[in-house]
Amino acid sequence: MCGIVGYVGKEECTQILVDSLRRLEYRGYDSAGIAVFEDDKIKTVKAKGKINEGLVKKLEQTGTLHATSGIGHTRWATHGEPSDINSHPIGNGRVSIVHNGIIENYRELKAFLISKGYGFESETDTETVAKLLDYYYDGDPLEAIARAMNDIEGAYALGIIFREHKNKIFAIRKESPLIVGKGEGESFIASDVTAILEYTRDYYLLEHNEIAVLDESGIKFFDVRGEEIEKEIQTADWDVSAAQKGGYKHFMLKEIHEQPAAIKNTVSPRVKNGLPDFSECGLTEERLRSYENIYIVGCGSAMHAGLVGKALIEKLARMPVVVDIASEFRYRDPLITEKDLVVIISQSGETADTLAALKLAKQVGSDTFAIVNVVGSSIAREADMVMYTNAGPEISVCSTKAYAVQVAFMYLFAFEVAFARGRIDEERCRQLTNELLNIPDTIQKCIDNEAAYQFVASKIMNADSLLYIGRGLDYSLSMEGSLKLKEISYIHSEAYAAGELKHGTISLVTEDTPVIAIATQSALFEKTASNVKEVKSRGAKVVMICAEETAVDASSVDYKVGLPSANELLMPLVTVVPLQMIAYYTAVLRGCDVDMPRNLAKSVTVE
Ligand code: GLU
Repeated sequence: MCGIVGYVGKEECTQILVDSLRRLEYRGYDSAGIAVFEDDKIKTVKAKGKINEGLVKKLEQTGTLHATSGIGHTRWATHGEPSDINSHPIGNGRVSIVHNGIIENYRELKAFLISKGYGFESETDTETVAKLLDYYYDGDPLEAIARAMNDIEGAYALGIIFREHKNKIFAIRKESPLIVGKGEGESFIASDVTAILEYTRDYYLLEHNEIAVLDESGIKFFDVRGEEIEKEIQTADWDVSAAQKGGYKHFMLKEIHEQPAAIKNTVSPRVKNGLPDFSECGLTEERLRSYENIYIVGCGSAMHAGLVGKALIEKLARMPVVVDIASEFRYRDPLITEKDLVVIISQSGETADTLAALKLAKQVGSDTFAIVNVVGSSIAREADMVMYTNAGPEISVCSTKAYAVQVAFMYLFAFEVAFARGRIDEERCRQLTNELLNIPDTIQKCIDNEAAYQFVASKIMNADSLLYIGRGLDYSLSMEGSLKLKEISYIHSEAYAAGELKHGTISLVTEDTPVIAIATQSALFEKTASNVKEVKSRGAKVVMICAEETAVDASSVDYKVGLPSANELLMPLVTVVPLQMIAYYTAVLRGCDVDMPRNLAKSVTVE
């Protein structure tokens, strides 16, 4: 969600800022802009719309800017519509800022500043911070920033420049992400490291109450009292190719293809002597035996991964698991205690609602265990225990490989919980773990069956609405399949527990309603097959996703998508591929912007 970049160095910076912003496009945005030091002034160019249509065109009209430092922003509007005026950078010629997040007390700040004679141009909450900095500025930027930080409430990452401090960038953050990159004779700020991978892989993670100052001499960090502090440098193990399409038409397709390797990277390092091993984060078997309940909290696909986790843990470990949507969990006074484990799942590790849920769980005294992809992200740092999913960067807004690795992680976790609590013996645990280690090969076979998914996509692409049905694990997968389709193809769809359909929703079924039925669990197959007959009798076109060897009744199934054989328990890891690919090809056939679907942002850093 929104992107911040900044550059200080010897090169002309306009192109560097624009290119870095392009690498953050995947996060979702509606306008873009830059502000640079030209001569002794701050020169701002910003526009509503995509970088190429808005900002780049305006830059062409403006003519070449000669500057070697500046800040840039892609905005995802929260306060005020997307417009040129509301775009960032925002300021008044003396100070200019880029902001990610929400200033919660902006109304009070605005009233205060108006009483001091300030006027406001934009409708943004951000402008109050720019004016507040101007109000406090008395020649000392650090002091002005520290005083403003004291007054502002909410979540923010800010890049700040002062006209009187040419070629210097100041940066602060609270909850919203921001890193500081260190190159050879140049330095950067960015919302995430993918923005600057082309220039450097070395970066610092900025913490709350720290102020970064970037200038020609390098990078310095200060606390709010103005004391200089030392920080440890990090090195990204992603290289620039990980954030490029590498010959695929879309990042989404590339990331679907990366799933077998990503799952290997997630699972293999956590298997020791053939058994799951969570000791790297301190989640010992003794601890796992001590918990009364497990809560799994996430948003969107991460929450869906949690649903698979619940089914597995309850089945194998026979202990209760509650799965919650983070935005609900945080406000529903959940029944967690210090005897519970709260598992937090997030790709970015910055999801605002999930972070708030984590903080709530910590307050109550529950143990918190984060499963995240982005190293050093806020959730990773806040949680008592953290393990990374090692999937590499996920650029497409629509999550595929991040979901797949979260699900793979849920398997390993369920095996470990069941083993630690004596519900499965060592031999069974070994056998399940071994099957999980081998599942990437089966997933690869499934990916290779692309033509089948293209065919199904061509059959559903003109539908107005679809239903996904399944039972048990297949129902959890239905939800993920339905979400993928909605997200990127803009076709309405709903996931339903197959047996529940007749209690109301079946009234939606007509011959124009394709139904995608998932039936991978043999114990439930006949039950789902009966539900398929029910929708077929109402005229629906039925796509059945099931094991290749399963015989289906041709009178009730129009298209069968066969899955390579695997242990039924592990089938969700395989089944998700056709669901992702059907959504992908449907979106492509409908001409949708697959990697950047409308209205969506990759990392949702607001409530
Ligand atoms: N709240 C700010 C605005 O609406 C920043 C939004 C963002 O994070 O892009 O302008």
